[in-house]
Amino acid sequence: MAKKKGRVFSGARPTGRQHLGNYLGAIKNYVALQDEYECVYSIVDLHALTTMETTLNLPDNTREMALDWLAAGIRPDESIVFIQSHVPEVTELHTILSMVTPLGKLTELPTFKDKVRQQPKNVNYGLVGYPVLMAADITLYKAEIVPVGIDQAPHIEFTREIVRSFNARYKTNVLIEPQMKRTKVPKVLGTDGKQKMSKSLNNHIEMMAAPEETLERIMTMVTDPQRKRRSDPGDPDVCNVFSMHKIFSPVEEVAMINAECRRATIGCVDCKKRFAKNLNTHLAPFRERRDEIARDPEYVQDVLSDGAKRAHKIAASTIAEVKEAIGLP
Ligand code: SF4
Repeated sequence: MAKKKGRVFSGARPTGRQHLGNYLGAIKNYVALQDEYECVYSIVDLHALTTMETTLNLPDNTREMALDWLAAGIRPDESIVFIQSHVPEVTELHTILSMVTPLGKLTELPTFKDKVRQQPKNVNYGLVGYPVLMAADITLYKAEIVPVGIDQAPHIEFTREIVRSFNARYKTNVLIEPQMKRTKVPKVLGTDGKQKMSKSLNNHIEMMAAPEETLERIMTMVTDPQRKRRSDPGDPDVCNVFSMHKIFSPVEEVAMINAECRRATIGCVDCKKRFAKNLNTHLAPFRERRDEIARDPEYVQDVLSDGAKRAHKIAASTIAEVKEAIGLP
């Protein structure tokens, strides 16, 4: 096996069965990064607690998400796949890093302000410390690289600042300043064609649904709002179905739809059926693999428990170094 370039860390909250937004925004990159990097992928259940009202679905959501990741091509024999709370050292490092983090900076972060707007009745302490927990996730595993879309860039910059503060205060270089790896993350809109794809908005298309269900969801997609009748020419540039064709359909078909939509020689129903067919073809191997691994009830649990063991090995060594640098007995 070729030598890997360094260690990547990324985490995602346990949101259950994954949709196209999750696939295009994260999973596809996770799979590709494995070829070049040693990858550590965490299902960050502790982060989820900051916004959750009930934890009833947490075990199911965790398992379903892990299943989707594995079915989509994350290779647990190479990458470490684990649940954040199974390696409790992260909470220890979180506490330690919080001592070098100015509170004023945390409350000024745009993401914190957004959350306060979204859940004004639940502005909990964990919500403020979220970026510190994220810094603990990254630094505990000595990740050199963190894949980011534009939204997360300020958090990684924040992690870098915390690392510099920690290393400067304790005159050490124990913690690694992670580099950002900008990933191509297309803006994935939901079936409403307006808002980001999200389960809570019920505008999502699940990766692992049955083909008929996928077609049903696609048929509800909003198209060019100006195209009222089949005989009206459409504008693919403002149509979300066309954006999806560009990702999942062969180039010749994309060119054909682009031209025919403008001439009104293809209808939206036909166009959507074509998209559904191409999407189902793209996802078919993942769905087959999912069915296969879901047949063994122990498989996901075994992967996550092996991942936790491997993650713990790195975490225990980092915490020991951190404590030594601070002088904690
Ligand atoms: Fe969109 Fe296709 Fe309808 Fe054109 S034909 S508006 S690209 S769905």
